[in-house]
Order: sequence, then structure tokens, then C-alpha cells
Amino acid sequence: MGDFKFAKDKLAEVVGALKDYEVFAPAAVGDVLRFKEVEDASSVSFDFKNTNVPPKELMFPETETLFKFRVGKTDIEPAVPDESKKRLVFGIRPCDAMAYTIVEKLYSWDYPDPYFEKRRESSVLFGLACSEPVPNCFCTSLGGGPGSEQGLDALMFDLGETVYVKTITDAGDTVAKAMGLEAAADAEKKAAAAQEKDALGKIKRSIDTEGIPEKLPSLYDHPFWEQFSDRCLSCGICTFLCPTCHCFDIQDEMEAFDGRRARMWDTCMFPEYTLHTSGHNPRPTRKERTRNRISHKYSYFPEKFDVIACVGCGRCINYCPVNIDILDILEKSKQAEAKEAKTA
Ligand code: SF4
Ligand code: SF4
Repeated sequence: MGDFKFAKDKLAEVVGALKDYEVFAPAAVGDVLRFKEVEDASSVSFDFKNTNVPPKELMFPETETLFKFRVGKTDIEPAVPDESKKRLVFGIRPCDAMAYTIVEKLYSWDYPDPYFEKRRESSVLFGLACSEPVPNCFCTSLGGGPGSEQGLDALMFDLGETVYVKTITDAGDTVAKAMGLEAAADAEKKAAAAQEKDALGKIKRSIDTEGIPEKLPSLYDHPFWEQFSDRCLSCGICTFLCPTCHCFDIQDEMEAFDGRRARMWDTCMFPEYTLHTSGHNPRPTRKERTRNRISHKYSYFPEKFDVIACVGCGRCINYCPVNIDILDILEKSKQAEAKEAKTA
């Protein structure tokens, strides 16, 4: 594919040239940084590390109508997204793009999900390589990296005055040309490679995932889980802000004779998540819920889909109000398993 560039002070012009696309980019909503549709191209900036809320909401909104219905009528009015609308996700970080490649395995599994799939298929992803990873990033342990291209159509490198754009797919190439970008020279390619190398050196946290998916189930009843779950507040932040968490609830909402079936994000960290109508709850305490969160990502999901459902973005560590750290849990699980194996 191609190598392009543009002057960073022309960012608004470059984004503004895309008249045929709905463009989404990071924007401050109060104190929260999240992806929003761009209304004013001059508001787009590269001056952020990563968004607080991951862009999973662009494919899987917090709340969405699946269909509408009316009492007494058998017809329903589906609300499947219009795939003919072209969307550009501009400035997505490599870990968040990689997260789409993981969750799309689920959404195309036993029942293809047209809501997720149509948004995903109509979206072109223009990534922004990380030059300053945050202290809890550990993407390199999960096969990603500050310059990872997984899931992306193009990857941009902010080189200061110039932005180097490497296109990865035909869709990325088409957008780069629609933006009117000029060809990059060897100097920009070299600067991007140097920036990626430098950023790799700034990732300080890691986990060796070898053997974790296979060994976690043997720790199902191990007391080590309580060391972490005892201080959990069941707030759900770790899952709502995780780019790979995808659990949802479905509810029917009525207003007089009109209703809608909607789905909304849910979390396995809430006690109600597994509460049966009978009153029985198979995950009654925070211990079972913490165990499920970690086991789902690092054992159940890879068992079914052959990939760990974590990209090492660090959000669950950064925003947990009581400093529960997934890397500490995984390290402790390895120690507990090694101890069990020794005494067996
Ligand atoms: S963010 Fe922390 S306190 Fe909140 S549910 Fe997750 S682990 Fe528990
Ligand atoms: S589990 Fe934590 S580190 Fe992994 S993808 Fe989710 S929020 Fe990021």
C-alpha cells in the first residue's frame, strides 16, 4: 500500500476534505475523552494519549434500539444500521483497533450480529501510533504494540510538524487519496520507524501469557482470588471501559402502545448479572465475579476463539478506584498454580 504525509497544521483541511464520510475522532465531553462525530474539523487534535472510553461504542453503543413494535401489531420495525453510510474512525489507537479484531469473532460466531457487523463493515480505521505509552500499557504482551497495524486501514505517525500516513488496505488508500495527501519520502518513513522503536522502549509493564489460558481453570476454587476481590466495589468500571468487554442486557421499554427492544452494556461485575428469577445466583460474591472477569478474558475466550480477550490497554488498571491490577492478578495466578503443581 502507500506512504503519504501531510503538514500537521493542515489537519483540519485534511479531515474536512472527507465530505462523503461520517468522521469520528476523540473529543472531550466534559472531563471524559471519547470518540464523537466530528462537527467542526478544526476541533480534531492529536494532543491526547488514549481516550477514557474506548471506541467500542462506535460499533456497539452503550444503548441501542434493536427494533420497535406496537401493541396489537405483528410487524416490527428493525433498527439495523445503514451500511451504505461510510464512516471514518480517525485517530484510533492500535490497541483499540486490535480489540475490534477480537470482539468481531464473537459477533460473527453462532448468530451473526448485523448491528455490530454493518457498522464495522462500513468503517475505515485510521490509527494513530503511540509515541508516549502510559505507565500501565502492556499491549506488547498480547501481540500488539505502539505501531501495531492489526485491524487498521491506515496508521498515522505524528512526527511533530509532519504526519506520516502508511496505508494498509485499499480502503485506507482510498481515504488517503480523498484527503488529498501527498507522497511521503524516506525521511518520514525512517522517522516513523525510529518513533515506534522509541515507544516500544517506553512500555514498562508486561506479562508472559504462556500457559495462562490452560492453567487458570485449575485455580477455580483457589483462595488467591479473594486477595483482589475483597476490595472490589462492584462498580463495573473495569468492564465498561474495556475495549474487549462486550456483555449486554436486553430490555423492552414501553410508552403507551409503542415499544422498543433495546440492548445496553452490562457487566459481569454486577451481582444482578447472573441473578436467576428463582433468587439463586451462581456468582453470589465478588470472588466469583472477579474470577469470571479474568477467566473469561484469559481462558474461556481463548478456548473458544483462540485469542486472549485483552489488548493490554491498561484502562482497567488506570481507572479502578481501588487499584485492582489485572497484571497483579495474573502474576499471582501463576505463582498459585506453580505452588499447587509443586505440592501435587
Ligand atoms: S473497577 Fe475495580 S472496584 Fe470497580 S468492579 Fe472493577 S475491579 Fe471492582
Ligand atoms: S482487560 Fe484491562 S488491559 Fe485488557 S483490554 Fe480490557 S481494559 Fe484493557
